[in-house]
Amino acid sequence: MRPQTARNPACRRLVQAPDEQLAEGLQDLEAKQLYRHRRLVEQCPTQPWLRVDGRDRLVFCSNDYLGLAHDPRLTSALRDSATKWGAGAGASHLVTGHCAEHHALEEEIADFTGRTRALLFSTGYMANLGVIDALATRGDLIVSDDLNHASLIDGARISGATVRRFRHANAASAKDCFEGNASGRKLIITDGVFSMDGDVARVGDLARVAQDENAWLIVDDAHGLGVLGEKGAGSVATSGLGENEVQVLIGTFGKAFGTFGAFVAGSEQLIETLINKARTYVFTTAVPAPIAAATRRALAIACEEEWRRERLRSLVERFRRGAASLGLQLMDSSTPIQPILIGDNGRALRISEELWDLGFWVAAIRPPTVPADSARLRVTLSAAHEPQQVDDLIEALGRCASLTRM
Ligand SMILES: *Cc1c(COP(=O)(O)O)cnc(C)c1O
Repeated sequence: MRPQTARNPACRRLVQAPDEQLAEGLQDLEAKQLYRHRRLVEQCPTQPWLRVDGRDRLVFCSNDYLGLAHDPRLTSALRDSATKWGAGAGASHLVTGHCAEHHALEEEIADFTGRTRALLFSTGYMANLGVIDALATRGDLIVSDDLNHASLIDGARISGATVRRFRHANAASAKDCFEGNASGRKLIITDGVFSMDGDVARVGDLARVAQDENAWLIVDDAHGLGVLGEKGAGSVATSGLGENEVQVLIGTFGKAFGTFGAFVAGSEQLIETLINKARTYVFTTAVPAPIAAATRRALAIACEEEWRRERLRSLVERFRRGAASLGLQLMDSSTPIQPILIGDNGRALRISEELWDLGFWVAAIRPPTVPADSARLRVTLSAAHEPQQVDDLIEALGRCASLTRM
């Protein structure tokens, strides 16, 4: 159907059909090389392979850092628990959804993180939204790292508090944000490991600023837990910080632990406050118990099997050596997140496509996930990779014309 035409251009939006308005927005994304497509995974052969378009692709962009997502011990825990608890939780935790499997996982997480208590959330995204919104409101101040994950940014936004952003990983800049702020609660929020750069937050420095300014420190260690430190205790524990310094610790199970769901850990009062006030906790269905059962198994394995972290460390070194020999621009990261900085959106996409044709799956990351003009290939390593596969990736990168010829 043809849209009505308006004489006054200001009214054009009003008479344009809804789908035409959307189509305009999509064309705009396409023009800026920011359009996103999904790839359809047809089959999951042995890790780290996935079959797409009838061909097995070697995956170098998942967050399954420890290689646990397909571990048969997790899938059998899931199966056994489903027989016992069914496929769905049936209600929120505050109604009938909180079962023994969830409760045991909360206690194990409290133990693992060295916190008094822990509380399960359905996803890390929801945990961040719920926590920040429950702890801050209009008149409060949130001091936030420039490169924080979208869920922390969104949580700060919906809380209604004043938000000031500090220069990435710069504690002095964080301190400056407190200038002239008198009343109200004060929160510092940061990723533990930055998801698109791979560098580790200076949580010790931020803890000192927080102490000086009488602020609380909230760390989202989505990419550090399970990966960094002994037993995978994460970026906060490796800095020697406990509940008194980092009052709120957030983690997800969707990354190193290979399952799904998330948690917040901290004091008794914090957890009771969240149970009562975090809207993304109160108004949503509990994660199915079998997922919690698989996560309990994952947590035990992640703690015990130190070889997974050792292997990761050596793969990271191997990758960095190889990439340096090709003259690629890596970032200051010692974690399994090893982005190759490209800059231009179109070029990042072309390189990703070239790698795809060679049988490698490496995602191109573009704005708004990363700042403008900093598109990158986000290479991630996993304990499921063989050293030879890393060498193969390096060789493929060397064959990418769009990458090596500027
Ligand atoms: C992935 C991620 C989240 C979201 O976790 P989900 O459980 O996937 O919703 C939150 N914070 C950071 C830093 C992340 O990388």
